[in-house]
Amino acid sequence: MNSPIVLEQWYPIVMSKRTREELEEEEIEEPKESKPRRSEADVRNEHIDEGAILIEFEPHPNASKQVITWWRGMEKYGFKVSDDGCLIPHKQYWGSKGGKEEKKTRPSCRSLSSQFFNDKVADRDRSPNNEGWPCTETYSHLCHVWNCASGEHIHVEEQWKNVKRNYCGLQDKCNCSNKTKCIRMYHNSFWDWKFNYLDYDTPKLKYKIQKLMPDYKFKILPKNHYINEDLKRSNRTLRKKKDKSQNKK
Ligand SMILES: [Zn+2]
Ligand SMILES: [Zn+2]
Repeated sequence: MNSPIVLEQWYPIVMSKRTREELEEEEIEEPKESKPRRSEADVRNEHIDEGAILIEFEPHPNASKQVITWWRGMEKYGFKVSDDGCLIPHKQYWGSKGGKEEKKTRPSCRSLSSQFFNDKVADRDRSPNNEGWPCTETYSHLCHVWNCASGEHIHVEEQWKNVKRNYCGLQDKCNCSNKTKCIRMYHNSFWDWKFNYLDYDTPKLKYKIQKLMPDYKFKILPKNHYINEDLKRSNRTLRKKKDKSQNKK
């Protein structure tokens, strides 16, 4: 019998998840690297070598131009797709990025996903209810994977409902009493999820992804889809370098 200690084990885990999410809300930028910037093609190819798949999704008819542009930027680096439906973008999209003015800030992948797929933005300005429970809207993950961008897994709801999910799934089913059910047991954001990922070699790849994301339309692009665009860009960069060095002479 080892069940009585479970809650004690969970408590610090729950706290650390909240801390991480709070940090992200403060729009922390990744530290500027001193190394020269890697090209988009290099980053994309590395991600594909790690198992990412290039997928082009159809946006919600009401998604804004800005959201679609941000999403397309993220899409170009591909996604890792777990065989149970999580859609993990490249790490540079896990958090938000940009200046202090909120409008210029590119949101995190979960906020982008919610807007791109479901046309839902979390209302951050809600006051607590009469009981003093936090009613600010948040992007809840039904899969509990903080960097997942699947439209099927992200659900906008009041914070008190989101927090309840942090204690869910002990008997292997959703028992947090939220109407929209979690899809697996909760683990905090530092948990090492042992996912099996689909990749370009997976048989019936399109069919499998469609089953995992039945509500959305998409195309799977070949690994080399961006090869011409990449070549043009690298030629342009070379030309610019050449012009610069000639101007110096
Ligand atoms: Zn997920
Ligand atoms: Zn639940």
